[in-house]
Amino acid sequence: MAKKDYYRTLGVKANATEAELKKAFRELAKQYHPDRNPGDAAAEARFREIAEAWEVLGDAENRARYDRMGPLYTASGRPPTAEELNELLKDTFTNLFGRRKAQVGEDLRYTCSVSLEEVATGAEKTLVVQRQVRCRKCGATGDSPDGRTPCTPCNGTGKSPTRRFLRSDCATCHGKGYKPSQKCSDCSGAGMRGTEENLKVKVPPGVATGQKLKVKGKGNEGTEGAGDLYVILSVAEHLLFRRRGADLLCEAPISLVDACLGFDLKVPTLDGSTTIRIPPGTAPGKSFRLPGRGLPGLGGSGKGDLHIKVAVEVPAKLSAEQKLALSQFADKLGPEAFPQKKAWIDQLRSRAESR
Ligand SMILES: [Zn+2]
Ligand SMILES: [Zn+2]
Repeated sequence: MAKKDYYRTLGVKANATEAELKKAFRELAKQYHPDRNPGDAAAEARFREIAEAWEVLGDAENRARYDRMGPLYTASGRPPTAEELNELLKDTFTNLFGRRKAQVGEDLRYTCSVSLEEVATGAEKTLVVQRQVRCRKCGATGDSPDGRTPCTPCNGTGKSPTRRFLRSDCATCHGKGYKPSQKCSDCSGAGMRGTEENLKVKVPPGVATGQKLKVKGKGNEGTEGAGDLYVILSVAEHLLFRRRGADLLCEAPISLVDACLGFDLKVPTLDGSTTIRIPPGTAPGKSFRLPGRGLPGLGGSGKGDLHIKVAVEVPAKLSAEQKLALSQFADKLGPEAFPQKKAWIDQLRSRAESR
């Protein structure tokens, strides 16, 4: 017997249109849905009432019977079982809020290290990715495809024979249409399997550390599609070059004598080497720019420069003979060979005199 006024439960008038009923139900169901009110027994009880009212009023045939019979109306001769109610909640949730998050597989994150050389040219990297995929043998049902017998209540259709709105799946077989026989041997009944795949990922030129590449559909699989795979790039430190945006910096030690006399210096580039002219009298720390020998911009647009900075190496240990030769050499040079040093000494002297 219908103990309640279903129209009042949904907060609508008895002459409400189908659209009004649906709108009222959706709003109330959202508000009192157990997923939104975890642990709230009152909200759950209210949700059950709302669902029950909708099962009757949401179906034109049931509604007509309910309108005719009023309090004498009986839905199916028995109250829904706990299992049916769970199904009802699940389906209602799906219908109301669209695709359940859990039904799309999770995204996966992997890191991938690339060298500066690979940043320069772009690269194809192979990642070993462990992901969950739907079992192909059983169609992710978890039941062995062998020896299935059709479900009796739904005649193998998987559709509920009575209720059309909230719970379209058959309560006995949960929409499968057959009686579960035995567990699928490939996935041990889980429906999903862990796999290890070699995935090729294209890394474009010019990438930087922390950049993400998205590989669509290569995350874990779910019942309604796969998540995505995110490859987080990390550019490895280079032995010779430091990176500053698209520019490359390299420090080249040269000898004191080479700095004085000048010479041709062989310098490394990312793709090999080249020679630059170090002019006589090159100061320590001087930088030489090689245009276009740096890294490409992201996507291969433009090119940075290569900067070679010379570090003049001063001999740390000299023999007595070498020291003598150097001081003789210094005498030959005279103070005019060191104009900066001379200016500095002059400044110090004038400061002392002014005191
Ligand atoms: Zn399986
Ligand atoms: Zn069935």
